[in-house]
Amino acid sequence: MNERILVVEDEPTIATGLRDDLELEGFTVEVADDGAAALSRILEGKFDLILLDLMLPGMDGLEVCRQARLKGDRTPVIMLTAKGQEVDKVVGLELGADDYVTKPFSRRELLARIKAVLRRVQDGPGPSGVYRFGAVTVDTGRCEVSRRGEKIDLTAMEFKLLKIFLEHRGRVLTIDELMQEGWGSDAVLTDRVIYTHVSNLRNKLEENPQKPRFLIGVRGIGYRFDG
Ligand code: CA
Repeated sequence: MNERILVVEDEPTIATGLRDDLELEGFTVEVADDGAAALSRILEGKFDLILLDLMLPGMDGLEVCRQARLKGDRTPVIMLTAKGQEVDKVVGLELGADDYVTKPFSRRELLARIKAVLRRVQDGPGPSGVYRFGAVTVDTGRCEVSRRGEKIDLTAMEFKLLKIFLEHRGRVLTIDELMQEGWGSDAVLTDRVIYTHVSNLRNKLEENPQKPRFLIGVRGIGYRFDG
């Protein structure tokens, strides 16, 4: 493993600790200690993952993330937040962060998150655009879904929503993100539309829709697809 990680952290002791831990795990690590420096390093596009502290002098982590996404950078971002920054956590996910870890975190927890995010990025659909989870097979090229070989009828919107989930496996998607990706920013609709479609998808795809295994609700934020 020699993935490159950019650590964006202004507290020298934390930054050094992170660097040491990650290098021990075989990652190549660089550190940036303020938002502007981080953004220019990110836009060089040479990293596999970014650990981005929320509270930074000058441009904060949210703004760095927003700017990077605006400029088309898609490098996975894990935000480092402090306790009590729940609101920012939601905003961070809306701005395109892939995950967050709350300080103080253990080295083990952080490594697990990093590996999960990296795995997800490398785990796209198979070459033919076919995804599998549980007993379900989704062929995105042919727009076909089956469970144990039996065809399942999805509406166009259900299929679209399922595809969004599949493309962001393991990541929390906010209701707003789902609405934006599924319906576009001009659409006028309420959260209820998303709840209804997710509920229909659960009924069609989950073994037990009351206790979903794949379409997991994340209270107050949105949904995560664990497939
Ligand atoms: Ca900080």
